[in-house]
Amino acid sequence: MSADVPQAAYESLMQFLYRAPIGLVQTSLVGSIEMINPTSAQLLMPLSRDGSLDNLFDLIDSLAPQLRGQALASQREGDVICDALRLTPPAAGGAAAQTLSISIARLDGGRLMAVLDDISLQVRQEQHLIERRLRDAALTDAMTRLPNRVALSGPIGDALLRRAGGSGHQFAVLYLNCDRFRRVNDLLGTAVGDGLLSVMAARLQGVLRAGESMAARVGGDEFAVLLGDLASSDDALAIGRRVIDTLGQPCQVSGHALTCSVSGGLLLGDLAEGDVDAVLHDASIAMVEAKRLGGARLVAFEPALRERAVQRGRTEADLRLALAEGQLFVVYQPIIALREPELERRCVGVEALVRWRHPQRGIVPPIEFIGVAEECGLICALGDHVLATAVRQQQCWRDELGPLAPGWTAVNLSRAQLQQPDFVASVQALLAASGLPPQCLQLEVTESMAAQDASVQAVLQQLKALGVVLALDDFGTGYSSLASLHQFPVDVVKIDRSFTSQVDTSQHHRVLVQATVMVAASLGMSTVVEGVETEAQAALVRQLGCDKGQGYLYSRPLEAQALSAWLQPVASPA
Ligand code: C2E
Ligand code: MG
Ligand code: MG
Repeated sequence: MSADVPQAAYESLMQFLYRAPIGLVQTSLVGSIEMINPTSAQLLMPLSRDGSLDNLFDLIDSLAPQLRGQALASQREGDVICDALRLTPPAAGGAAAQTLSISIARLDGGRLMAVLDDISLQVRQEQHLIERRLRDAALTDAMTRLPNRVALSGPIGDALLRRAGGSGHQFAVLYLNCDRFRRVNDLLGTAVGDGLLSVMAARLQGVLRAGESMAARVGGDEFAVLLGDLASSDDALAIGRRVIDTLGQPCQVSGHALTCSVSGGLLLGDLAEGDVDAVLHDASIAMVEAKRLGGARLVAFEPALRERAVQRGRTEADLRLALAEGQLFVVYQPIIALREPELERRCVGVEALVRWRHPQRGIVPPIEFIGVAEECGLICALGDHVLATAVRQQQCWRDELGPLAPGWTAVNLSRAQLQQPDFVASVQALLAASGLPPQCLQLEVTESMAAQDASVQAVLQQLKALGVVLALDDFGTGYSSLASLHQFPVDVVKIDRSFTSQVDTSQHHRVLVQATVMVAASLGMSTVVEGVETEAQAALVRQLGCDKGQGYLYSRPLEAQALSAWLQPVASPA
């Protein structure tokens, strides 16, 4: 109490405070209680072991033992010993936990004033708020603010229950995955990738009519949507296509103009089987099928897809083993000079084609496993193995067969191989280690790999700079036209088998082959026609100006040793 406050005023202040709905306690410096108002007594009594309220520090010793020492250590009038310190005594016999707030300040040379309050209600409200936030966080994707997989599971479960109850309620689940999203992350950084996903999330919410559906982010670049209250399955397909179209539109993220198409799988409620996870899985199987078909499209789930997915899973597991156990081997198909009469039927080069000697399935052709290897990331290991084998074999033929050796070996590449950061260096190292001149190696890429992809084109230029020959495989099957042939930095165009097979029956195909040959020649590229099976086809493609031919007419793909024998000159009949 400071000396300039008159005693009467002090008394009336104390009277006022005494009746205040807040706890007030005046003690000595060591905590002996000199004044305590009824509210304090009520708050502190539960802490008293023997029913006495003599010393404040004794009462709260088990909860805040440090205060006694801090009070003694305080130096000046007005020093704050503690401010709104929370004390939570153990709840007795199942009672709700009570929390007290205590503030203590030094009044003067020998006295302390403590203010006590019951803040149990406030603490409970805070706890509820935190719990709600945690619950919301557990159901919300932090980046896009969309509901997450857990949040979507509830409504899908409800839809399944309603259908099981025979409500006739039509619903569908749409599963979306961004095509080649990893490239955005790899090339532009994860911040741009995250920005793109946020754009997609916003578009997704914009394109869906509120109330009829719920969209969620269910994985890195994956979204799922529950479409409810549908009039028909056509409705679901139309919404699915609209979503894919909208999400795949170009956008700007951090100054980058991006276009990332989206693949979608649609599971109609009538085909839903099992629990929520099974439903989402089936929708994702359809999405994977959409990707396999080239992406940027919608595929409706059908049960046969499930079986195919299982089969692919098995192939993937077997393929890992095949790589580890050396079950993959390479065969070589001769490529024949068509135009130089002196080289007639001479094997000018070969194409290396991979095969799989499966312990149960026998020899498996590449069409059954290249796609799986691409999907599961084994293609680089597989492709590197074929490339190394083919390069060694080509050098081996050169050493053993001299002038009879094929002039070059062509090796098929997959996109992922070209995207390996050290691919060009590894080709260079392979050539150096084997001693094979670079012009004896041809690398085949397809239109879809080389078109519209600046990074792939840059790698192709580097390979060309090494002296390696580049070929455009399966020409005519992709989406680019003859007019864009000049954009491909290739030396050879391989005309697809689908043209060869009709060259003798369709004028249209003959014209296309001829036009390809002419455009290629004007660009300084040579042509190889694939899949020559008959003499009639051979004669025609030669007439149309194709430089080289490849096909069963000349030889099927052969193992290295068989090819060596095939290359030996046939003894002319005496
Ligand atoms: P491709 O590169 O266009 O290879 C030519 C395919 O046509 C080969 O099929 C070959 O056996 C087949 N073929 C050749 N002449 C004829 C013919 O006269 N008639 C018919 N009907 N077919 C003929 P294969 O070996 O089954 O390979 C299929 C595809 O698998 C290849 O097409 C290529 O795209 C891919 N592939 C093969 N090996 C590899 C590899 O090591 N890496 C990669 N990434 N892909 C490969
Ligand atoms: Mg090829
Ligand atoms: Mg081909």
